[in-house]
Amino acid sequence: MEYRILGKTGLKISRLGFGGIPIQRIDAEGTKKLLHEMVKKGINYIDTARGYTVSEEYLGYAMEGIRDKFVVATKSMARTKDAMRADIETSLGNLRTDYIDLYQVHNPSMEQLEQVMGEDGALQALQEAKAEGKIGHIGLTAHSTAVFEKALELDWVETIMFPYNIVENQGEELIRRCTEKNIGFIDMKPLAGGAIEDASLALRYICANRDVTVVIPGMAEMTELDQNIKACEDETPLSGEELQKMEEIKQQLGTDFCRRCNYCAPCTVGINIPSVFLFAGYLQRYNLADWAKDRYSTLPVKASACIECGECEKRCPYHLPIREKLKKCAEDMGE
Ligand code: SF4
Ligand code: SF4
Repeated sequence: MEYRILGKTGLKISRLGFGGIPIQRIDAEGTKKLLHEMVKKGINYIDTARGYTVSEEYLGYAMEGIRDKFVVATKSMARTKDAMRADIETSLGNLRTDYIDLYQVHNPSMEQLEQVMGEDGALQALQEAKAEGKIGHIGLTAHSTAVFEKALELDWVETIMFPYNIVENQGEELIRRCTEKNIGFIDMKPLAGGAIEDASLALRYICANRDVTVVIPGMAEMTELDQNIKACEDETPLSGEELQKMEEIKQQLGTDFCRRCNYCAPCTVGINIPSVFLFAGYLQRYNLADWAKDRYSTLPVKASACIECGECEKRCPYHLPIREKLKKCAEDMGE
């Protein structure tokens, strides 16, 4: 297993990390087995989030006795100082540790980022926790290139997490700038939320980019672990055949795949279109029905509210049949 330094954090981590979303569909014992296997195979980076329901708790149970083998990263959607302080304490309790290596601001919008950095914002709580030795480093996760670009200019940001995969490479130039600024780049959604079925090919594509410090595919089974290790350890250059397959995947998904760019906004009736597709994707691709429906229930306007005006479709650069897709989401999510 190759190890890299995670930007200015100085942490030495395996290039393949562990994405903690899918363990929600197994259990604490299954998670323990996976983590023990990871220790044997040299994988030392774990990513989770306050928002991934039982993920932190399962990991806390699974890390009993082997906590020191891992660099643990989690994240919170808290935007205020009080809420972030409370979330850090909850994470420490769930993860059964007195120290979290990396704590990230979870996917803020531009406005929320201002709030995080403003008076009584979440950043204050993170900096205090860092000074108290409860967390080691502070990072940020984003889905929009505007937030990514802004984060590159912020001194307190030690790592950035952003989607990057065969069909979502809009962040490539910004990822390169992470290297220039010594910011660790953590690649999320390597399989495009499950849309790319060939995991090995997807990881080969990502690992060929030296600006990616660590890639964190979600894993819940030993076979996935072994397959992902094999793909990340394979250092042979991408073959013509592989490049051809990647092109085919791009062609196939490129016309019918939401990249969460949000150019389609604003929806006439206020539907958050990329979020609907994201949450529905967790159900359609990961089979995480409860979690997907729980997240979906937080959306103030549901897919079923679409009046089919078509305005969003005029603005989508990928020409997605948004109305048709929203109908399917409304059916799957039940509202
Ligand atoms: S077609 Fe539906 S989703 Fe698109 S803007 Fe109109 S109401 Fe919103
Ligand atoms: S529907 Fe189209 S414009 Fe809207 S977020 Fe998805 S890809 Fe972007």
